[in-house]
Amino acid sequence: MTLNGPEPAAHAARRAQLKERLERALLFIPELPQSVYSNDVHYPYRPDSNVRYLSGFEEPAALLLSNHGKDEDGFTLFVQPRDEQSETWTGKRPGIEDAARVYGADYTYPLDQTHDKLVAHLRHVETLYYAYGQTAAVNQHVLEAVQTVNRERPRAGRPPLAIADAAHLLGEMRLRKRPEEIELMRKAASITAAAHVRLMETLAPGQFEYQVQADLDHAFRIAGCAGPAYGTIAAGGANATVLHYTRNEAKLAEGDLLLTDAAGEYGGYCADLTRTIPVGKSYSGPQAALYDLVLEAQQAAIATVRPGASVEEVHKAAVAVLCGGLVDLGLLEGGVDERIEDESYKRFYVHNTSHWLGMDVHDSGAYRIGDKSRPLEPGFVLTVEPGLYVREDAEVDESYRGTGIRIEDDVLVTEDGHEVLTSEAPKARAEIEALRRKKGVKSRLST
Ligand code: MG
Ligand code: MG
Repeated sequence: MTLNGPEPAAHAARRAQLKERLERALLFIPELPQSVYSNDVHYPYRPDSNVRYLSGFEEPAALLLSNHGKDEDGFTLFVQPRDEQSETWTGKRPGIEDAARVYGADYTYPLDQTHDKLVAHLRHVETLYYAYGQTAAVNQHVLEAVQTVNRERPRAGRPPLAIADAAHLLGEMRLRKRPEEIELMRKAASITAAAHVRLMETLAPGQFEYQVQADLDHAFRIAGCAGPAYGTIAAGGANATVLHYTRNEAKLAEGDLLLTDAAGEYGGYCADLTRTIPVGKSYSGPQAALYDLVLEAQQAAIATVRPGASVEEVHKAAVAVLCGGLVDLGLLEGGVDERIEDESYKRFYVHNTSHWLGMDVHDSGAYRIGDKSRPLEPGFVLTVEPGLYVREDAEVDESYRGTGIRIEDDVLVTEDGHEVLTSEAPKARAEIEALRRKKGVKSRLST
C-alpha cells in the first residue's frame, strides 16, 4: 500500500463511483513503464497517478474497470507476478495474490496477459475509456485490441467501439477532493510549511543553493513524505528570474533574495509552496517594494477564491494589483487599465496565477468549460502564486534588476470560501525578517 496513503476502502469507494459512469463501458489504464536512469539502473518508480488513485497499487500495473455484466466484470489488475530471482535484487512484490487480497482486485493477471483480456472485455462493451499511454507503442497495442474487436462487429450487427479519452472522466473525479484526500493534502502542506520555516530560521550567507535543496528535501523525507513533490527550486539572486531554475549550484550572497519553490509529497498527494526570503536579515528597499507588491497581489487573488469564482478571476485579481504597483514604482508607464489591456506586465509576470493541485503537482481536470473559465467548487484545490521577475538586463531602474519574487500557497475551496492549506508558512515581510533574526536554531548545513 502507498506509504501513508489512503485505506483500501477509500479506493473501493472511488471505483464504485466511477463504475456508475461506465454503463456498457470499460476504463483501461495501461502500465506506466519504469524509466532508465543509467544503463541498467532505473529511476525510483512513481506509479501512474490514475492507477494509484483507483487502487493504491504502487508497482507497475495496468488497470481495467468494467461495467458490462458479462464474464469477469469488475476491477482487474495486471501486475508483475512474483519472481524469486528479481525479488532477490529488488525486494518483495505484491504479485497476483496480494493484488487481489490487499488491493481488492476482483481479478488479477500477469501483465503479459493484458492484451488478451482487454480484447475479451472489449467484446462486451460499446465504449472504451482509455487513458492514453506514455508511448506510441502502448497506444498501438490498444488500437490493435480495438481493431480486433471491430472486425467482428459488422457480422454481429453492432457498431464499432467508441473510444473516449479517460483523462476527462478521471480528471473530473480527481478535481473534487474527498475528505481523506484533503486530510493528506493538509499533512503534505504542514510538513512543507515547517520545512520552509526552518529554512527561514537557519539560512546563512555563504551557503549554496544545493545545500538549501538538501535541507528542504531532507525535511520532507524525514517527516514521512515519499520525497519532494517536484524538483526543488532554490534560486538565489538573479537565478530567481528563471522560472524553473533547478541547477541549484550558486553560492548565496548577503543582500540577495532566495526564492525556494519546494514541497513534499505525502501519501501520494502534493503540496506546492514558494517563499522568497532575504539571504541576510532583511529585504532592501527595492526588494521590499517588489515583495510587498507580490504579497498584496497574492492576498487579493486568494480573497477571490470561493465557490462560483474561477481561476481566471483569481488571475485577474493578481494582475490588477501587480499592474497598479508596477506603474506606481515606475516599472511600467501609462495607465493601469491600458497596461492590463496590452499585457505589457508580461515583461515581469509571464505565467498564470493558479493550477490544480492533488496527486500530480499540476493536477488533472479541465480549467475551462467551453469558452468559460469553470466555476470553482468545494473540494477543488488550487495554487495561488503570483510573482515578479525583473531580469538583469531589464530596462528599468538598476535597483530592481536581477530580482525574482514568487509567493505561492495551496488553497482549498470550501463551502463558504476557502482555506489556505499552507498558512503555517509565514509570508508577511516583518514575520519573515523576525525569523531571519532568530537566534539559537541550529542549521543542518555547513557553510
Ligand atoms: Mg511551485
Ligand atoms: Mg505551482
